[in-house]
Amino acid sequence: MKKWNLVVDVAKCFNCNLCAIACSDEYGGNNFPGYAAEMPRLGHRWIDIRQKERGDFPMVDVVYLPVTCNHCDDAPCIKAAKNGAVVKRDDGIVIIVPEKAVGQRQIVDACPYGAVWWNEEKQLPQAWPFDAHLLDGGWKQTRGAQVCPTEAMKSHLLEDADMQAMVRAEGLAVLQPELGCKPRVYYKNFDRYQKAFVGGALAGSIGGVLECIAGVTVVLKRDNRKIGETVTNTFGDFRFDGLDENSGKYSVEIEAPNFGRKVVEFVVESSLYLGTVDLGAAQARA
Ligand code: SF4
Ligand code: SF4
Repeated sequence: MKKWNLVVDVAKCFNCNLCAIACSDEYGGNNFPGYAAEMPRLGHRWIDIRQKERGDFPMVDVVYLPVTCNHCDDAPCIKAAKNGAVVKRDDGIVIIVPEKAVGQRQIVDACPYGAVWWNEEKQLPQAWPFDAHLLDGGWKQTRGAQVCPTEAMKSHLLEDADMQAMVRAEGLAVLQPELGCKPRVYYKNFDRYQKAFVGGALAGSIGGVLECIAGVTVVLKRDNRKIGETVTNTFGDFRFDGLDENSGKYSVEIEAPNFGRKVVEFVVESSLYLGTVDLGAAQARA
């Protein structure tokens, strides 16, 4: 049987928030019996755009991660609910049934992703229900996916085997797989959010003038083993991405023609900018 999955490409999300606004528009002031009670106008973010800043000035980037209910196949919220207040549909969607979930605050606490919000006025746990009422009515995409201007967010109705083939082909990842909840929300280019980069710039003195040194090969090493190589750009910048945070000691080795060899050692805790590496004065040609 085909089931719903959501795929978010982290590299294409630029924090426009249109998916979150569409979600608020859909559920704010609207009741969908059996699917969701109305979402409060303030305080809830059923689609929550989280962000992470990486690096140091001037080499900085910001990565955005839309987080919502993962519609887990092994969902702790279902185990915590009483009276069948949270159900897993045959198409993979998890619904917190509003008529049954009143007063069940333990459902909020059971979700390890922080995806369930507590409606104080209604005494009700609430989460994004994958726009199931729309899909049941024939929609092919969720509202968030429909309004996303970069197609960063897309919903897919697939057999599990076909979804797993997509996971392998596109290198998709889920949030905290170690929890074993088996999310149905996947992320593409997830390394941008969870990994670190190291970068720097090369400069040297040519004829007494400090210049950016472009076109120089920079080698990244760990435990004296080469793990990456790049070439400085027009501004003398170099950058390596995809390093594990808190992964220890590394070095970059720079072999610049007319300047000689330079080694910079550093420790990766999170993304870092090594600053300008001064190669000194260019050696005169023989
Ligand atoms: S609409 Fe698309 S680009 Fe905008 S915040 Fe949502 S996922 Fe990101
Ligand atoms: S993300 Fe949280 S609320 Fe959604 S199915 Fe998983 S455990 Fe339940």
